Amino acid sequence: MKFNQLGLTAELVTAIESQGYTEPTDIQAKVIPQVLNGKDILACSPTGSGKTLAFGAGILNTCTKWGGIQALILTPTRELALQVTTTLQKCAQPLSIHITELTGGVDLATQRQEIRSAHIIVGTPGRILDHLTTKSLSLTKLQYLVLDEADRMLEAGFNKEVHAILKACPTKRQTLLFSATLSKESKQIAKKYMHTPFHIKTETNVNPDQLYHTYYDVTHEQKFPLIVHLLKKTKGIVMIFCNTRRTVDRLTMNLNYYGLKSLAIHAGLEQVQRNEHLETFHKREISILVCSNVAARGLDILNVSHVYNYDMPQTSTEYIHRVGRTARAGKNGTAISFVSSGEHGELRLIGREATIKIEKQRLPPLIPLKNTIDFRSVVPLFRRGQGTKNKKGHETRNRRK
Ligand code: ADP
Ligand code: MG
Repeated sequence: MKFNQLGLTAELVTAIESQGYTEPTDIQAKVIPQVLNGKDILACSPTGSGKTLAFGAGILNTCTKWGGIQALILTPTRELALQVTTTLQKCAQPLSIHITELTGGVDLATQRQEIRSAHIIVGTPGRILDHLTTKSLSLTKLQYLVLDEADRMLEAGFNKEVHAILKACPTKRQTLLFSATLSKESKQIAKKYMHTPFHIKTETNVNPDQLYHTYYDVTHEQKFPLIVHLLKKTKGIVMIFCNTRRTVDRLTMNLNYYGLKSLAIHAGLEQVQRNEHLETFHKREISILVCSNVAARGLDILNVSHVYNYDMPQTSTEYIHRVGRTARAGKNGTAISFVSSGEHGELRLIGREATIKIEKQRLPPLIPLKNTIDFRSVVPLFRRGQGTKNKKGHETRNRRK
């Protein structure tokens, strides 16, 4: 299958192929003709399967320079908005179609200016709604509404905003809903706002035979020495997931202290820092990324060889999303979970619900690492001033991820 067999204009096919994409992925081959047919789409396909271009190509194919804002793409995070914008911009440039990103962290006045020349808007629900409320964004010419990573967006608490935005869109439009999983909430959105959507589901591109699931039985205190031991023993491109941003900060600081260069990414970082960290990781200047769940979904980080669950995820879906960062595109990957006494319930749940075998590993002899930096005694790096000091001058916990 080639891109020129899908009904796209020759100009767009050239733009796509000049990105080095020779063949459409499974989801692209299935979605693009349906979008061109004017259908609403409900697509469920895993991270890394090429969803961006699956909805992007159809939109770019019909967008015109004179048409005003013709498409709105909603994403759950700023990172994803940036990623979608960058990907689509490359194909849009030769067609003189402008894509504008509207997310928090950038001032409204600048964005208002940019909206004027936009044909496609990519943004997070909160900020889009801000612009709709203040009438700086008008959707009267809208033809496409895309909900990218719909489940993640609804889970992140954007339910109200998403409904409000959907109501603000012209009724005569195409709605394209994309997600790695399809929750009840996503299906409700589909039922309420979509016209007999075309259902598309593609298989995982994470090859289950190439993903090896393991776990270690540990005490809470053994987690840090164990991760240091394992990271020193096996080299690779590593993502480590923790459940709170506090743990992310603390672990990153301590790994760096022990000579394991690593970067943190979580929602408490300034946007510029998050982008910088991701870029550094992409360039492989640093090969350890410590993240909270915010980074688990949708982010396109290729060739990750090891995914660590420093803390166990709470659900099997979350586990699948995290470990889905590895064993992609024909490569092998290893998922390593640290299970402390309170986390066996999660382990059992994940094994059962995801029907995977997570193999127990023998704990290696560990050297106790006494000199770790205590997070209470240092000013945390890279955080927005959200923690507050209590009487003793200690930072109080901040559980937001
Ligand atoms: P998803 O949104 O499903 O997670 P993305 O759209 O982010 O996936 O794409 C994942 C990766 O696959 C990106 O690096 C992208 O450049 C690449 N990709 C997308 N489409 C193709 C294609 N047709 N051929 C080769 N690589 C592609
Ligand atoms: Mg995506």
